[in-house]
Amino acid sequence: MSTLESIKGIGPRMKEKLNRNNIYDCFDLMYKYPSRYVVYQQKTLKDTIDNETVTLRGTVISKPIVHFIRRNLTKLQFKINIEERIFTVVIFNREYLSKMINVSEEVVVTGKIEREKYTFNATTLKLLKNYHDHIEAIYNIENITDQQFNKYVQAAIVEYSYLLKEDLPQTLIDKYKLITFEELIKIVHNPGDLSNLKHIDRRIKYEELFKFQMKMNYMKLKAKSKKVNIKKYDINSLREYIKKLPFTLTDDQKHMVNEIIKDIKSPYMMNRLLQGDTGSGKTVVASIAAYAVILSGYQVAFMAPTEILAKQHYQTFTKYFNNLNVNIVLLTGKIGKQERTEKLNLIITKPNTIIIGTHALFSDDVVYNNLGFVITDEQHRFGVNQRKKMREKGFLPDVLYMSATPIPRTLAISFFGDMDVSIIKQKPEGRKKVVTKLFTKDEMDLVYDIIHETLLKKEQVYIVTPLILESETLDLSNASQVFQTFRKQFKDFNTGLIHSKISSDDKDIVMENFNNGLIDILVSTTVIEVGVDNKNASLIVILDAERFGLSQLHQLRGRVGRGEKPSNALLVYNKNTEAKERLEILEKTDDGFVLSEHDLRLRGPGEFFGFKQTGDLKFLKADLLKDYKILELAREDAIEILTDQNSYYNKLYTPIFKYLKKELRNTKLD
Ligand code: ADP
Ligand code: MG
Repeated sequence: MSTLESIKGIGPRMKEKLNRNNIYDCFDLMYKYPSRYVVYQQKTLKDTIDNETVTLRGTVISKPIVHFIRRNLTKLQFKINIEERIFTVVIFNREYLSKMINVSEEVVVTGKIEREKYTFNATTLKLLKNYHDHIEAIYNIENITDQQFNKYVQAAIVEYSYLLKEDLPQTLIDKYKLITFEELIKIVHNPGDLSNLKHIDRRIKYEELFKFQMKMNYMKLKAKSKKVNIKKYDINSLREYIKKLPFTLTDDQKHMVNEIIKDIKSPYMMNRLLQGDTGSGKTVVASIAAYAVILSGYQVAFMAPTEILAKQHYQTFTKYFNNLNVNIVLLTGKIGKQERTEKLNLIITKPNTIIIGTHALFSDDVVYNNLGFVITDEQHRFGVNQRKKMREKGFLPDVLYMSATPIPRTLAISFFGDMDVSIIKQKPEGRKKVVTKLFTKDEMDLVYDIIHETLLKKEQVYIVTPLILESETLDLSNASQVFQTFRKQFKDFNTGLIHSKISSDDKDIVMENFNNGLIDILVSTTVIEVGVDNKNASLIVILDAERFGLSQLHQLRGRVGRGEKPSNALLVYNKNTEAKERLEILEKTDDGFVLSEHDLRLRGPGEFFGFKQTGDLKFLKADLLKDYKILELAREDAIEILTDQNSYYNKLYTPIFKYLKKELRNTKLD
């Protein structure tokens, strides 16, 4: 039944070709929707614009000439009269047409019209008597022509389409006036009429996004339903801790603390993303949550993307938990064997421990003692697998992800549909806006002057460059060279260099000296991009700024303005208007979300989560950005169904739940 061989014309060889394209039976054939359509619809010349791809009718007025350009490339050329204007038609590799086309014959040509040049670059050419308006389905299937494939599909539809079942709930089909699945299958492979394309498009987009949202939100609900041991802690001790912090929490921070604490107390697993601009005070919030977990008798793991950051968090936490009964352990890949053994022992034996580190946190030899909470800083830098591994170390620990890369709402609900998202918008009081200015490379002298003034005030300076070593092809600044230049330029001050190829010990020394003021100018690559916190640094100069995304530049400038001092960011770029316009956005706005929206528009979503750009987010027609409105509707619909217990017994939803079950079996849950 429904085997490929049951279709006329499909023999063993064709079957193999289809198999190679993941088509194994007639249902696969029907489900293989065209990736796009080509519309053949006659227009009139006056309605076309230059360089448009159109179908026009005309009369041949010169005999076709064939040029043999090289092996496998011929050019057929003739003149045509279209609405009393003469064009030269050019078409490649159709030499055989020359015999069929005669002067004064009427033909229909499809292709790109170059009105100014009176040239018509044709892709299809038909005699008028053989032409009719139509829409061609393009499948892009390896080694099988679209016509041939479409023939098989049509045959499959005739035989088996009665077996296909709608899986969208009828209520939603009615709500949005979508075509039904039956109608879709009938027209998707052979739209016939132009107006059908819109119906096809709407139906497929909605279905794709609705199913996607059903899946994401189902996973989210399911994750929540997992019971963990309820954590109980002494609220007074926690209050005491908050009171002893060297500052008062902002309202946003208080709000976040409440949300996270509620998650910790609840019998459901926490799976929360905490977003907030760099410097908005996420780490403090995390420390409060960590303390609550420690007070309830569990261990906490805190994972950072780089050693520098891990160390900084370690120092911060050591300060915060000074005089409290909490062990803070730093676990990175770089420590010696004996020290490591000691630390691992401590982790096994002492429950009241916060373990801070990099990937080393989930090496196989690390055994936790009742791990209850995992905090992940800059979570978008970690691969899905690493996070999963970490989670497996504990008994379903609560998980808090922190990110300073503001994710546009558009993406947040797509990428983190299975997480709760909290946002800190407010900055701690007294924070000054980082004044941002653009300079071209020719204006370096001005930049040097500003650096000098800053240094004279005993304030420190970051210099950031895109590359580590000299690149042969690109005229970009590079850390080592820039370091030499600055050392010479500012002889009376100390300049330090840091980049990813420097040994971790040396990195430590440089960072320490920068933090304690021995180094005045720190030349660096983007290793300082996230989190590094030196309140006395008030100027950051970013070279070749056009090489960075806006969000990244925003992160970088967040290295300054962390204390009370007025701070500046100077973006030095290579004269180029496009770069200028883009970078000027940074002069104008300080809102990380606005900037990430710009990045998204200018550079696409890949910029944000390279690793998540697979599987789940590949749609045939839907586009997470362009179809955002549909996405939101689909999300509301999915949530409404999933959160109503009656839905699970309602026949209306049986097909979609069946689909869901099948899908989830095929997805490895993160
Ligand atoms: P993030 O992790 O969001 O980048 P941090 O938690 O590292 O931010 O905070 C940045 C700096 O601001 C730290 O030096 C921290 O001590 C300080 N800070 C945090 N919250 C406040 C606050 N409410 N008032 C004043 N300073 C704060
Ligand atoms: Mg941080």
